[in-house]
Amino acid sequence: MILPNDFKSEYKAIEQEIQAKMQEFFAKGWYVLGTEVRDFEQEFAQFVGVEHCVGVANGLDALTLALHALEIGVGDEVIVPSNTYIASVLAVSHVGATPVFVEPNPLTHCIDPTAIEAAISERTKAILPVHLYGLLSDMPAIMKIAEKYGLFVVEDCAQAHGAHYNGKQAGAWGHINAFSFYPTKNLGAYGDAGAITTQNPEYAKKIKMLRNYGSKVRYQNEMIGYNSRLDEMQAALLRVKLQYLTTWNTMRRETAEIFRKEFAHKNWIFPTEPEGYYHVYHQFVVQSNEREKDMKELEKQGYTCLIHYPIPPYKSHAYKTQYSGHSYPIADALANTVFSLPVHGKMWNY
Ligand SMILES: *Cc1c(COP(=O)(O)O)cnc(C)c1O
Repeated sequence: MILPNDFKSEYKAIEQEIQAKMQEFFAKGWYVLGTEVRDFEQEFAQFVGVEHCVGVANGLDALTLALHALEIGVGDEVIVPSNTYIASVLAVSHVGATPVFVEPNPLTHCIDPTAIEAAISERTKAILPVHLYGLLSDMPAIMKIAEKYGLFVVEDCAQAHGAHYNGKQAGAWGHINAFSFYPTKNLGAYGDAGAITTQNPEYAKKIKMLRNYGSKVRYQNEMIGYNSRLDEMQAALLRVKLQYLTTWNTMRRETAEIFRKEFAHKNWIFPTEPEGYYHVYHQFVVQSNEREKDMKELEKQGYTCLIHYPIPPYKSHAYKTQYSGHSYPIADALANTVFSLPVHGKMWNY
């Protein structure tokens, strides 16, 4: 049976390096904000092609601290895609701002830039594009709109490590950008982890304070901060896995081609990769009008499929009162028709 994730096979492929790293880690005896976090930050910034990376505890915190550092809060609005994973929306709520939903392009699943301008008000402070399933949003168009209206851009790169448009990667476009290293992501830790990337040294400094109680010098607290440090052990292990990210993204792309051929006869809508874009297939998501039947049939053929995501955030219990009276038909249609073939499971088993 091909499961959505095959972490055991992945571990086998790098077991010796991980074991060696763990021994080194325990011999050092330094557990919080040490050289592993510092070195991972440098290496990941270089990978993304930016000046600064700051490790934090998880992807939701990366988004929340990014918005906080940009001084976005109560009374402000942030534009988010209507079909995203709910974490992108929660971050906006956690800083006290209001999420304003904009529908996606149904083929790319990413926010439709042509629909953004109509959603901008006097209160809009930022656009939060999500590179859903591993395809970069239309960043040239989004940056142009942001510039025209003086808005910040915070990229949600949780599903798009290594994705790019004409060589410029996810995490290199917006003002402060957020990554998650949750185990299932293209670059996943052995537990929770996250980071922000930015070209701006002031933002990087601010996030470094925010993640550590608002403090630069111990016992001197300059801001009302958080405890959201990237764990030193996770940073050590992420450094090992970062060396494989490009190879593993290539394997995901090969797996996507295998799925396209194997299921070419199906009348599904397959993932698109527009000209110039490099999709990293965090998920291989198809749209089907007979989703339940198709998923059952695939289960019989040995593929366990999942739905990303069955309920749009605005219809979740957490938000349905706030957004009663709103309707997002494209997000609804996608939630009713999408399902994901097991990319990670398949890439370790063909
Ligand atoms: C996983 C994910 C997050 C949150 O990351 P965590 O590390 O789980 O907090 C945010 N946005 C998107 C699009 C995600 O897929």
